[in-house]
Amino acid sequence: MVIVMKPDANEEQIKRITDKIEEKGLKTQVIKGMNNAIVGVVGDASHIDRETLALSEGIDKIVPINEPFKKANRKMHPDNTTVNVKGVEIGGNKLTIIAGPCSIESEDQVEQIAKAVKASGAAILRGGAYKPRSSPYSFQGLKGEGLMMMVRASEKVGIPIVTEILDPRHVEMFENLADIMQIGARNMQNYELLKEVGRAKTPVLLKRGFASTIDEWLMAAEYIMSEGNENVILCERGIRTFSKYTRNTLDLSSVPVVKSLSHLPIVVDPSHALGKSEMVESMSLAAVAAGADGLLIEVHNDPKHALCDGAQSITPAQFKTLMGKIKKVAQAVGRDL
Ligand code: PEP
Ligand code: MN
Repeated sequence: MVIVMKPDANEEQIKRITDKIEEKGLKTQVIKGMNNAIVGVVGDASHIDRETLALSEGIDKIVPINEPFKKANRKMHPDNTTVNVKGVEIGGNKLTIIAGPCSIESEDQVEQIAKAVKASGAAILRGGAYKPRSSPYSFQGLKGEGLMMMVRASEKVGIPIVTEILDPRHVEMFENLADIMQIGARNMQNYELLKEVGRAKTPVLLKRGFASTIDEWLMAAEYIMSEGNENVILCERGIRTFSKYTRNTLDLSSVPVVKSLSHLPIVVDPSHALGKSEMVESMSLAAVAAGADGLLIEVHNDPKHALCDGAQSITPAQFKTLMGKIKKVAQAVGRDL
């Protein structure tokens, strides 16, 4: 439930309302908009008598939230949320391009790629140290050592980092070392992990599970937000369908759907969706045209020899060319890059 206050409602009137609701054991969240304040009610508001509450002074209207997600709901927060990562604003008019290798492989590799993608306009470096591989026999990542290589490259090159967290016991370490914690597709419904990153302050990039509906994805965001961490960035990375020519099917329609349902920023990962480097460009451009707030692209300096996801990784030179094209589409849809 959301209570929209009248433009001239004063602090006292707002307080009277939040007190009344909190007396019933529910939580409130006051959001001050340009014209009026909004009081969001978090929890099961079914036992609140809306007709009586509506008689309180200063209330313009009461809007019920029928969807199961509350904090992530746009009704609760009509303006877009922007997530600030070391000065990089995700979700504003400027697109955020996140680029880097699937896995951190060496000190030299990550540093070279970090320099190259930054020079072409990427704002954030991606890279996996703890890898959630489908096979236990595949390369599992350089783990803590890889994370430290990434941190050193980040400091040297001056670019924030996003890296995947697999284990709730690693949250404290990631809080100190990562600028954004990534929850991968395989862990989107790992509720204990979601709650643990929800108790941290570091922003979270939440990938859509490959067999998850948009509602399930937003409920996963709700798990994180309900613990206090509201800095959530959604990432569409394709879902599993009967279509066999791409690794997954990129559900670009989720961009406008999420934008209508939620205030959270959404970025698109065409690399994991397509699985083929030659198809990354067209879907990157389409994602920007569809209204995505940014892209997450796998870039490798030697894709043929990459230890993970080489087939979908583009080279730094291809990334540079792509950035030039993204700029043009961004301009066409009124976004900056
Ligand atoms: C990744 O970003 O490297 C990754 C494993 O992605 P996803 O969780 O989308 O498969
Ligand atoms: Mn990958």
